[in-house]
Amino acid sequence: MTEKIQAIRGMNDLLPSDTPRWAWLEANIRAVFGQYGYQEIRFPIVETTGLFVRSLGEVTDIVEKEMYTFVDNLNGESLTLRPEGTASTIRAALEHNLLYDGPKRLWYSGPMFRHEKPQRGRYRQFHQFGLEALGFPGPDVEAEQIILTARLWRELGLRDVELQLNTLGNADARASHRAKLIEYLSAHIDKFGEDETRRLHTNPLRILDSKNPTLKNVIADAPTLLDYIDAESREHFERLQALLRATNIVYTINPRLVRGLDYYNRTVFEWVTTKLGSQGTICAGGRYDGLIEQLGGKPAPGCGFAMGVERLVELMKESNVNTATPTVDAYVVHQGDGAQQAAFGAAESARDAGLEIVLHAGGGNFKSQLKRADASAARYAMIFGEDEVTSGKLSLKPLRGQGEQTTIDLSQAIESIKQGRTHGCI
Ligand code: ATP
Ligand code: MG
Repeated sequence: MTEKIQAIRGMNDLLPSDTPRWAWLEANIRAVFGQYGYQEIRFPIVETTGLFVRSLGEVTDIVEKEMYTFVDNLNGESLTLRPEGTASTIRAALEHNLLYDGPKRLWYSGPMFRHEKPQRGRYRQFHQFGLEALGFPGPDVEAEQIILTARLWRELGLRDVELQLNTLGNADARASHRAKLIEYLSAHIDKFGEDETRRLHTNPLRILDSKNPTLKNVIADAPTLLDYIDAESREHFERLQALLRATNIVYTINPRLVRGLDYYNRTVFEWVTTKLGSQGTICAGGRYDGLIEQLGGKPAPGCGFAMGVERLVELMKESNVNTATPTVDAYVVHQGDGAQQAAFGAAESARDAGLEIVLHAGGGNFKSQLKRADASAARYAMIFGEDEVTSGKLSLKPLRGQGEQTTIDLSQAIESIKQGRTHGCI
């Protein structure tokens, strides 16, 4: 036998048993984003490598080791499968001059690609929904984004998520802190792994993000950035917190929260849960005031976040969230050529009336067809046989719960199916 081809490790199929939950989640996210006036933007899955190197920073996990980068054979250009959406959103906004008449609220969704070690909650192709507010200095728009996510968790029925906040201050604050941090960390170089040694002078802040257990105490006692924050950033952070308190958003300040990417300044935040093991961050973001200029635009502030759909779906399962899923209205069974013709016509009429109909295909006797109808998600069977064709009627058989089989006109059948329409649960 020929060997079967398998999907690439860390890149998952979504089967019909998963897709209703995903679709429900996606519809809810879109609806909430829309409620806050965010507009959708779609950009390509492949971009020039330089876009990500320039925006994320050379010394970040993504650029150092996670990007799917390849050379376009046709012209030798270096291309990369997008690992995140912020860089592309800004690239597209600048390319199409979207900011010419003022700030913009934008959102995106779709697959992202990172060459990571696959494990629960961490995949090589994963999916994000993200949004970006371009041209807003904040902190109002940061508060709005956080309030929006809190609403989303309520809509989704997700509990046990905690908001963590921090401020990274301005560039000067980070520079002073950086000097102190290098001095402090240099005394512990014996405990460093390869990553930390390399980062000591290039990106020491990232060492605070390290998951290396031998560094736990070193990290805990490291000088915290919060002590170096400039007055303006401090005020900005205070105002954000006041807005959150005014809208009853509970948060904790985590001085160790530095985020993985270079482009952040001032506010950073993460929504985390303890229910998903070590991959507990479901949503993360912050402010990136220098990024638009860094990508060739006129200086303009920005902030945004991205959430991981796989982790949200897992958390929905952990939280036993029931998602309504449409069932099929009727499964049409038929036997004989005349009945088949009548069944085709009736199925189209029922669809004209807005019903979801599965028409039996592939022949077989009534018994086997009704078995299929039972096994399907349909609420009714519509039965067409010799008798029905002669009488111009059909038999309507409820497949779920009580109710007798009746022989009725098509229009009556459509009406009763419509009346009994409810939505089942997964
Ligand atoms: P982590 O620290 O878990 O690697 P990150 O800081 O790299 O996360 P971001 O770039 O901020 O993640 O992406 C935003 C969100 O996207 C994360 O909070 C997470 O929910 C999700 N995410 C990131 N990487 C993956 C992945 N490889 N697989 C599944 N989801 C992911
Ligand atoms: Mg990561």
